[in-house]
Formats: sequence, C-alpha cells, structure tokens
Amino acid sequence: MAWRSSGATNAALIANLEQNELIKTPRVKEAMVKVDRAHYAPSMPYDDSPQPIGHQATISAPHMHASACESLLDYLQPGAKVLDIGSGSGYLTAVLANLVGPSGTVIGVDHIQPLVTLAENNMRKSENGRKMLDSGQVRFIKADGRKGWKEGAPYDAIHVGAAAAEQHKELSDQLKSPGRLFVPIAEGWMQHIYVVNKNEDGSLKKERLYGVQYVPLTDAPNE
Ligand code: SAH
Repeated sequence: MAWRSSGATNAALIANLEQNELIKTPRVKEAMVKVDRAHYAPSMPYDDSPQPIGHQATISAPHMHASACESLLDYLQPGAKVLDIGSGSGYLTAVLANLVGPSGTVIGVDHIQPLVTLAENNMRKSENGRKMLDSGQVRFIKADGRKGWKEGAPYDAIHVGAAAAEQHKELSDQLKSPGRLFVPIAEGWMQHIYVVNKNEDGSLKKERLYGVQYVPLTDAPNE
C-alpha cells in the first residue's frame, strides 16, 4: 500500500495518499497540498518513493512525510515550535510550517551547507515559501542535529529525518513537557521509527512503530 500512492500531479499524489489511508486527517492533507513537491524533488516528484537530492541525501518518500506529520499532529498546533533535524530538501520543513501557521516556528537543521542553501532556495520557489522565510516562521541552520538545536529549545515537536545510532538524550531534553519526538533508530541491520512522548511530569514514554530505511545521521563530511 505504502508504495502505491504515486500520481501524475501533486494533487493526485496527495489524493492517493489519502485514499490509501496514509494521510488520515484534513489538516495534514491541507498542509501537503500547499507544498508542490516538484519544488523540492529534482526527479519524479510525484512518485511515492525517495529521490536523490545530492550529497548522499534523499528527499524521503511522500508516505513517510505523511506518516511523520500524522504522528506528530497533536503537537503541531497553530503557534507550536518545531525542530526538523536532517531537513535536506526542506520539503517537510515547509509542510510542518503550514501546520503550525504564521504564529508558529519551524527550524530546519542540516549539517551540509549546500543542503541548507538548497532547502532555502527550494522554499523560495513559491510565494508561500518566501513569506515563511522572510517572516522568520522558517529558518534553516547548519548544525550537527544529533545535538538538537538548543538555542531554539524547548520544542513542542522534534522530527528527525535520518536514522540515529542511539536514542540521543539531547533531543528529548529539548522537548517541552508535554512534547513529542519522531525518530528513526538503527538497530543492527534494521531501522525502526520511535515516537517518544515527554509527559507533563517530564517522564518519557517510548513507542516503537514500523521498520524503515533512512540515510544515517552521521558525522559531517570534511569540507
Ligand atoms: N527530511 C529530509 C530528509 C533528507 S535525508 C527530506 O525529506 O528532504 C537526511 C538528511 O539528514 C540529509 O540531508 C543529511 O545531510 C542530514 N544529516 C545526516 N546527518 C546529520 C547530522 N548529524 N546533523 C544534521 N543533519 C544530518
């Protein structure tokens, strides 16, 4: 099911994701409809598959972007503060920004400067994207995402778009109480999505979801 949602246009892709119950809520649908994947994926933008964006990175598959938004949705209310680690193409950063609206903030972090620049340029292709950058609603920052980005903490929601080798304590430390983290974790040859809920009393509840294949969260390449 997950791979059968490709369409000929952005609208068709999103309609298929909804039909296949990968998009479950009108809020996620609306936020994804507003971002044209062709501005972010250099090839086959409406295919439900990951695509290379250079620097050994990929724009994740649309069904993964939908799943991440659905999982974090309770914490993506208007005005929320969000951290998107491994922002790559900037696509999901833009969708998250639509979800939290103009009173919210989304910070995209990537450790490769050309990808930080690419994400910004991609977002500048649309009027909505330019507005979100110029107002400061969205910022892209070059940093090692394994440490989160404490200058902007605490966050209502943190999304990690590359597979972590371990549960990075810095990330849950940077969540609000309550708040939620969505992170792929490598376990041997496998990777699984974990959703970590930080409760009002600061305690953590970790839930393991399904198996995935992400590029790893790594040391920065030599520049
Ligand atoms: N959500 C992005 C996924 C891009 S692929 C998208 O759909 O476009 C994963 C990204 O994680 C790559 O851009 C890679 O450069 C970045 N990355 C890997 N290790 C990182 C680290 N330690 N800190 C920050 N970004 C990292």
